[in-house]
Amino acid sequence: MSQRVAIYPGSFDPPTNGHLDIVERSARLFDRVVIGVGRNLAKKTVFDADQRVELMREACKKWPNVEIRSFDGLQVDFAKECGARFIIRGIRALSDFEFEFEMGNMNRRLAPDIEMVYLMTAPEYLFLSASRVKELVAFSAPIDSLVPPNVAKALKSHKGKGGFRTGATESND
Ligand code: ADP
Repeated sequence: MSQRVAIYPGSFDPPTNGHLDIVERSARLFDRVVIGVGRNLAKKTVFDADQRVELMREACKKWPNVEIRSFDGLQVDFAKECGARFIIRGIRALSDFEFEFEMGNMNRRLAPDIEMVYLMTAPEYLFLSASRVKELVAFSAPIDSLVPPNVAKALKSHKGKGGFRTGATESND
């Protein structure tokens, strides 16, 4: 029988516990999950693509069927490249739904044989976003319960080097 492979694409700047919850649940649903870290995003990121891949890789070590790669271009092309027939996305609020609905429909037009799979966020992560985490770091608020330990360390080190100086966040997710 053929393997059920899914991709989970995103910017992951940085990975949060909300993302990891989606990864963990996806790893139970599919034989193989490839996390796709967007390389050339329209938005400016705090961590470059290689750093985001590394942060995700370290955070996902415990799941043997999860693999991390970076990608450029369309989600559906990346899915085909990975031999995946499913694209996973997480949904938090209605605002996510609107964006995802539009993108899901576009993906369906581009590749009708690839199915979108939406996982509803766990309630404890409903208000957790990568941009909110960066904002908290900028104001020296605790983030240890929101991100994996390696990400907390990387964020603190980025702040220590003068990142987040203005308190502004670089991306809006
Ligand atoms: P993108 O820029 O592609 O939206 P993100 O890194 O912001 O990438 O998010 C990747 C995916 O993870 C998206 O489907 C997003 O809705 C989902 N996601 C982000 N934060 C959470 C969370 N706290 N709970 C569940 N899903 C989330």
